[in-house]
Amino acid sequence: MEKHNNRRFYSLNDFFKDEFNDKIFKVSLDGGFTCPNRDGKVAHGGCIFCSDAGSGEFAGSRRKTITEQIDEQLEFLKDKIKDKKVIAYFQNFTNTYGDVNYLREIYYEALNHPKVLGLAIGTRPDCIEDDVLELLKEINEKHFFWIELGLQTADDNVAKLINRGYPLSKYMETAKKLKENNIKFVTHMIIGLPNEEREDILKTAKCIVESGAWGIKIHSLHIIKGTSLEKLFYQTNFKIFSLEEYVDIVVTILKFLPEKMVVHRVTGDGKKDEVIEPLWSLNKRKVLNEIEKELKKRENIV
Ligand code: SF4
Repeated sequence: MEKHNNRRFYSLNDFFKDEFNDKIFKVSLDGGFTCPNRDGKVAHGGCIFCSDAGSGEFAGSRRKTITEQIDEQLEFLKDKIKDKKVIAYFQNFTNTYGDVNYLREIYYEALNHPKVLGLAIGTRPDCIEDDVLELLKEINEKHFFWIELGLQTADDNVAKLINRGYPLSKYMETAKKLKENNIKFVTHMIIGLPNEEREDILKTAKCIVESGAWGIKIHSLHIIKGTSLEKLFYQTNFKIFSLEEYVDIVVTILKFLPEKMVVHRVTGDGKKDEVIEPLWSLNKRKVLNEIEKELKKRENIV
């Protein structure tokens, strides 16, 4: 059975169409943050898969103001965006890790841009202090807003291996707080982490559903040059999922998600000269086509 607008899962574009009757784009911003998992507050070195860009390879430049970054990306994407509105997405590093007055300043600078319809903020579940939560509640009451949490796995042993720096219970606690305050949140998960098999990955997706997330972002693991993950890969030669295995897992997840759970992504975006494995993930179009094909196959649609 088809779900929405002839799609087999409820994508972010479907959501925007339902909510705003329009296509909405995102501009990725760099708010000049670091991450408590890198600067020693929680740990040093960060998550083992995280690149120097703080998992935000396509964000604007931190040397520019927020307004300049938005304008620059609007100019770059002008043929695509035309007269449409955008979501200002604070993407790389931990975008709630700072003094609340600074956070207020940059969030509102983005929101006050005439082309910005709303705000999305990527962060960690252990990095939303009470004063920051108050600010997020205030923004959520007045603007279209969501928050993104990088869970990656529900398995605490794997979380230790990847140096995530917080346990699953912290994610669940934060998810509950956000739910209680009607703040939409999107949870990121990775398919292909070391020591995880298909069933472990499905458990993570189920856990995200149970936590009440509004949306899910499914990434393929990218082993990026220069990361600790690259070293681990060469030391242990851990299993890399094939494209077929990846597609099977993604489609299995998509089939059990609640009908209105917003799927923000079903694969990753990697830079050609930086990704070591899996190389098939660089052909994003092919990955998306294979997922679409498998969804059709499982629904007996030809
Ligand atoms: S929490 Fe995010 S920014 Fe920090 S090390 Fe992990 S992936 Fe990188």
